[in-house]
Amino acid sequence: MTKFVYMFQEGNAGMRDLLGGKGANLAEMTNLGMPVPYGFTVTTEACNDYYRQGGQISDEIMDQIADALHKLEEQSGKKFGDNENPLLVSVRSGARASMPGMMDTILNLGLNDEAVEGLAKRTENPRFAYDSYRRFIQMFSDVVMELPKSSFERVLDEIKESKHLDSDVDLTAEDWKYVVGRFKDYYKEAKGVDFPQDPREQLKEAVKAVFRSWDNPRAIVYRRMNDIPGAWGTAVNVQMMVFGNMGNTSGTGVAFTRNPATGEKQIYGEYLINAQGEDVVAGIRTPKPITTLEEDMPEVYKQFMEIAQTLENHYRDMQDMEFTIEDKKLYFLQTRNGKRAAGAALRIAVDMVDEGMITEEEAVLRVDPKQLEALLHPVFEPEALKEAELIGQGIDASPGAAAGRIVFTAEDAKEQAASGRVVLVRLETSPEDIEGMVVSQGILTGRGGKTSHAAVVARGMGTCCVAGCTAAKIDEEKKTLDITHDGKSYHLVEGDYISLNGSTGEVFLGDVKTIAPSISGDFARFMGWADARRTMQVRTNADNPRDAQTAVDFGAEGIGLTRTEHMFFEEDRIMKFREMILADDVDARRQALDAILPFQKQDFVGIYEVMQDRPVNVRLLDPPLHEFLPAHDDDATIKELARDMGIDEQIIRNKIAELHEFNPMMGFRGCRLSVAFPEIAEMQTRAIMEAACQVKKEKGYNIVPEIMVPLIGSLKEFKYVKDVIKRVADEVIAETNSDITYQIGTMIEIPRAALTADQVAEEAEYFSFGTNDLTQMTFGFSRDDAGKFLDRYYEAKIYESDPFARLDVEGVGQLVQMAAEKGRKTRPDIKLGICGEHGGDPSTIAFCQQVGLKYVSCSPFRVPVARLAAAQAAINQKK
Ligand code: PEP
Ligand code: MG
Repeated sequence: MTKFVYMFQEGNAGMRDLLGGKGANLAEMTNLGMPVPYGFTVTTEACNDYYRQGGQISDEIMDQIADALHKLEEQSGKKFGDNENPLLVSVRSGARASMPGMMDTILNLGLNDEAVEGLAKRTENPRFAYDSYRRFIQMFSDVVMELPKSSFERVLDEIKESKHLDSDVDLTAEDWKYVVGRFKDYYKEAKGVDFPQDPREQLKEAVKAVFRSWDNPRAIVYRRMNDIPGAWGTAVNVQMMVFGNMGNTSGTGVAFTRNPATGEKQIYGEYLINAQGEDVVAGIRTPKPITTLEEDMPEVYKQFMEIAQTLENHYRDMQDMEFTIEDKKLYFLQTRNGKRAAGAALRIAVDMVDEGMITEEEAVLRVDPKQLEALLHPVFEPEALKEAELIGQGIDASPGAAAGRIVFTAEDAKEQAASGRVVLVRLETSPEDIEGMVVSQGILTGRGGKTSHAAVVARGMGTCCVAGCTAAKIDEEKKTLDITHDGKSYHLVEGDYISLNGSTGEVFLGDVKTIAPSISGDFARFMGWADARRTMQVRTNADNPRDAQTAVDFGAEGIGLTRTEHMFFEEDRIMKFREMILADDVDARRQALDAILPFQKQDFVGIYEVMQDRPVNVRLLDPPLHEFLPAHDDDATIKELARDMGIDEQIIRNKIAELHEFNPMMGFRGCRLSVAFPEIAEMQTRAIMEAACQVKKEKGYNIVPEIMVPLIGSLKEFKYVKDVIKRVADEVIAETNSDITYQIGTMIEIPRAALTADQVAEEAEYFSFGTNDLTQMTFGFSRDDAGKFLDRYYEAKIYESDPFARLDVEGVGQLVQMAAEKGRKTRPDIKLGICGEHGGDPSTIAFCQQVGLKYVSCSPFRVPVARLAAAQAAINQKK
């Protein structure tokens, strides 16, 4: 018989896969003798079983839950549904990896018309009892029965209005009793049945709802962003309720053992007196800082600090803890390794090495590579900041600077982010807003503190966030933001510019200029540890000296891909390039190309001067030629072009028609251009070689040009182009009397090239995997259009992640692996790299390590990400 349910005493921290992070840590804390309310965990395997059974919990699992419940009643001395001393429980999700706020929670479960009387009697606090009951009805109806939250809030508002009361705190026991009656009536009206009175039935439905929430849309989005497999499932924790809402000697809070925004070694957190946990996270009231607990309840504070330190020492990592104080008695409801901002992650890792708590290698494994990008994010330009008009002050929730147009809903953010920078302004955010948050430059909320949803999620994403800007009057329906600062009032509407400083909490009017950040000393030290453990090189994709320099500053060790096509769009040569395309014969084409040669050579001189001795891999022209001509209906540009070139408009129109393709991605592009027009390859080769010879001679750098042919599918095709390159390269060497050597390689981006890589390697000195094209050609869908349907595929759980962002190891990965093996068989020392977008994706980098690639190449801002990911991949491989 499979064991699907574990009492907290039966588990430990090593059982995360089965018990989820929360369950495993609750078990660990219980066994460490910490004050954890009794409870049990229903395993992730039970969740998977639930899905296998088509959304049903098997009798076997229900029996095990009933047994555990019985034990819980014995442990707590309370009884489920009892009218003397009722047991109430919380029902919470908890997956293997923490997914804050993505799944569902139900509190105060076990209350019914009898138990509420029992609770009132037992606590001598009927107000508290009825408040808890109405909270339960609200939450159960929303989470389990999917009735809209707003309907209940409306009832509540009505009652407050009729009694002229401002706040929930002003409602009496009788008021809450009346509210409960109204809520139950509403429930019956909406559902056609009475609110469920049997606590066992309530529990079964709640457990099902938590399992179901594993697959809600926001959880699916979160999993995709964080590489969490759908197959893991979530566990469910059922735990005896303790009450932070029993009056002014009770409360609830969230705290971190170190500052999650800066990494500073200092307790950090907030709590609310007379409240339940959800009130803190939801940001409904603005909480007090944890340090004031020392004055409010000195004994509790002392105990809290001791346990917090014990937990950090035990887990050897910064802890994020939830606690509740029930009438001056402290309970821990959760501990986990805390999410932290990128800068904080570095500082904590470095400090813990210095404190002797962890090794350098452990430190390298502690920081999420994707987070590093956030460190490289902008700050305000100091001069622009001096001029900027401060219009508000909120809480510094997630560092960085952001400026953009105001949007008031996640939908608007998604829509408008495509055409420019947006800042999402909300009263408070909820997990439904996640997709809008992802695309926003910054997030501003009117409510909530540093542990509110907006703050936690923004820090994780590395997005700038100012929370709890209480002076801001935000009307999400009318799409307006009114704010008064220093006696001056501002009225802002959708589309107005606003700027945020997430490191200080300041809000500015207008579009304040931002600049790239400077990197702290911790960064260099930490990256040094990473680099020492890395075995793959990290190169960059760069097409001009500026990007190349940025990448070198970020630690790039070479260029893995220079796309030459962008160079031809520059003003001084696009006309000549169009002339070349419009030419009727080889001579006319050569003439136009001769005019382009000096510009093209200068492009490469600039790049070689920046890259010095580092390798530079230049790819011959790749896109179809019609991309360089005006669109067929762009009359103005066609007329202008005809005038400038002194030719008939019709000649241009004919050429556009001639070059039109139904499927350009599989059309006349890549090496096909070099086969049809070898003179283009000749000009490019000459430019590369002349530049390299010149810079080598002038500066003494040891330059070995790498010249790459795109989109080949067979040996003969490659060989044809290689012969052209070789002939011209040797000519230039002879002309310049240089001792330079060079290499000719190919992209592997067509499945046929991967399948015949052993043959291709006879001629190619290196392979660079072009996984953008390889992915589109393997899947058979266009990289430019897949976005139109991929969302549906995620919802239907056909794909878990975007195959253009994270390599499909199962399919496309096989081709990469096969080509690598076949290539090495023919040419054991063949140089292998990757230059598709996947080259900056940590999980793909781990795969590249396994396949034995020599380097990965990615965009400049991702270079530090790739360096760290490659270090982690090397460490994990060794393990
Ligand atoms: C690729 O296909 O992966 C690649 C790097 O080339 P491009 O994106 O320019 O097609
Ligand atoms: Mg390509």
